[in-house]
Amino acid sequence: MIIRLDKYLTEMGCGSRSQVKKAISKGVVSVNDMIEKRSERKINSEEDQVVYHGNEIVYTQFEYYMLNKPSGVVSATEDRHDRTVLDLITDSTRKDLFPVGRLDKDTEGLLLITNDGQLAHNLLSPKKHVDKVYYAKILGIVDKDDVECFLNGLDIGDKKVTMPATLEILSLYEDEVGNKMSEILLTIKEGRFHQVKRMFEAVGKKVVYLKRMKFGNLELDKHLNPGEYRKLSDQEVKNLC
Ligand code: URA
Repeated sequence: MIIRLDKYLTEMGCGSRSQVKKAISKGVVSVNDMIEKRSERKINSEEDQVVYHGNEIVYTQFEYYMLNKPSGVVSATEDRHDRTVLDLITDSTRKDLFPVGRLDKDTEGLLLITNDGQLAHNLLSPKKHVDKVYYAKILGIVDKDDVECFLNGLDIGDKKVTMPATLEILSLYEDEVGNKMSEILLTIKEGRFHQVKRMFEAVGKKVVYLKRMKFGNLELDKHLNPGEYRKLSDQEVKNLC
């Protein structure tokens, strides 16, 4: 990739564009062992060696994070009222990160954050039918009839019924106040607005807790508490691509 020197350093977190320009003009940046004072100098990110204040700065075009989204945070890049998922990614200086798709404000779990538009497009394309697995607590008893309805497709008020979805009943229990509850895993291949909640509404039940466990072949890391995140490994990125 060919990129201006000041952009290269700004994207790699060396400071704001104006701070970086100033630093370059002061002679603290070298390219291939030669001091470079021109901010507009074109860098080949695969071939050139850039050193800033004595430290080599290696350019990475894309960043990929797995976030365990907590409840109460919105899946947006900015919001006037609420904290966003990007506010939680505190050790990246990139300005072009965004969440791949959306989870509702009260939904927890796996959310991919990246600046790789092509990958996001592929994962979200309705034609690709990428599996998403959700764990949920449902008010009411989920039974075999529901499993069949989910498999056959449900009318949730859209033009088309939902695609076949796999519903697995994990347990039935009573909550603290005696409500009959169900714990389930649901695998869907679409990403319609409030889809899981609307599917359960269509069979007369209510989702009271929802957490995404899996997105395509990427699984939520059990070691991440709500609000925590980590970079994807190279293998995880490869698998997603
Ligand atoms: N389905 C929902 O209803 N909500 C989500 O956040 C994700 C899927």
